Amino acid sequence: MFSRLYIHIPFCRRKCHYCAFFSRENADGDLERYTELLQREMLLAAETTNPQQGLDSIYFGGGTPSLMEPQQISRLIDRAVELFGVAANAEITLEANPGTVDFQRLADFRQAGVTRLSLGIQSFDDRMLTALGRIHTADQAREAFRAARRANFANIGIDLIHALPGQTLNMWRSDLHQALHLAPEHLSIYGLTIEEDTPFAAKFIGDTPLLPDEELAACMFEAADTLLPAYGYEHYEIANYARAGFRSQHNSGYWKRDGYLGLGAGAHSYLRDSGYGTRFSNAADLDAFTTALHNDTLPRTDIMTIARVDAMAEFLFLGLRMSDGVLFKTFEQAFGAGLKQLFAQKIGVLLAQGLLTEDVSGIRLTLRGMLLSNQVFQQFLP
Ligand code: SF4
Repeated sequence: MFSRLYIHIPFCRRKCHYCAFFSRENADGDLERYTELLQREMLLAAETTNPQQGLDSIYFGGGTPSLMEPQQISRLIDRAVELFGVAANAEITLEANPGTVDFQRLADFRQAGVTRLSLGIQSFDDRMLTALGRIHTADQAREAFRAARRANFANIGIDLIHALPGQTLNMWRSDLHQALHLAPEHLSIYGLTIEEDTPFAAKFIGDTPLLPDEELAACMFEAADTLLPAYGYEHYEIANYARAGFRSQHNSGYWKRDGYLGLGAGAHSYLRDSGYGTRFSNAADLDAFTTALHNDTLPRTDIMTIARVDAMAEFLFLGLRMSDGVLFKTFEQAFGAGLKQLFAQKIGVLLAQGLLTEDVSGIRLTLRGMLLSNQVFQQFLP
């Protein structure tokens, strides 16, 4: 069972220097061939797996989904409606790179049924954008945002990255203010991580004077946590801020462990079938993905039945990502046992370290706990 659909588009116009996501530069005909494959995968998946009562959200992620033609996105949405059913008020998100859209394309995406745009702006500083290898300037990013508003998008998110090479706290504050000036409904704030096998890894490993140190990166995280709520944004998840009523429904579903089906090369799925559910992923390899579908088989790998002990750990480290935290009542409903009863000692240590807070309803990360979230989550691993 699942209530959410994720569709991975593994193509980009050009790889950014920091990116380790599964995507490659697209060639002529790739997008149309891929649209056909996704439709085939959807059909095969629908023969064995059904959503609960229609989908609550669809998310086109990547890669660069906005490279797709609006009519290709429209065909995929229509096919999802036909095969799975889609709730009338479903959130349908498209990740968009500002260098790939103009007013007409955005209006056509809106017309195709996309209700929410997630704009990967990353920085409003052209020097930073060049260093990152982005294909757009800050002006193009602002123009894309304004065009999206004119194209009738009432729900737009902006992604920004901090702790960039050579970035100062003032430069980061300026990025935040420029984002606020556009008044998006949602902001995602990520810290740069240097991933293996990227041009950034070759450039920065072993020689990092240009990268902000941990203390400065923490100041940048805290600057967002101070500034954005003052402008009406709720810090509702470690990396995410939203105006009231505009939390990402799709991503909130991940943190609440809703079932989701992932389509496309490299996509992950979690089905809430019997027991504590099943996780699997599609081959992160376009050739293997294509061959499987041409043979009328689903390209699924790493199929894993979730044990109770793993489900508890997931419940905790996904739930704690959100400012709502983990409620004692919902944990007990899910597992028939008390959270404090099972994890008293670990919770006690994290409370003493100032990484968690507790009240009568449940436990939550403190701001310091958000900064050191991996340290907290490790405590709950089986
Ligand atoms: S556009 Fe996004 S997915 Fe594509 S290379 Fe850049 S960061 Fe990676």
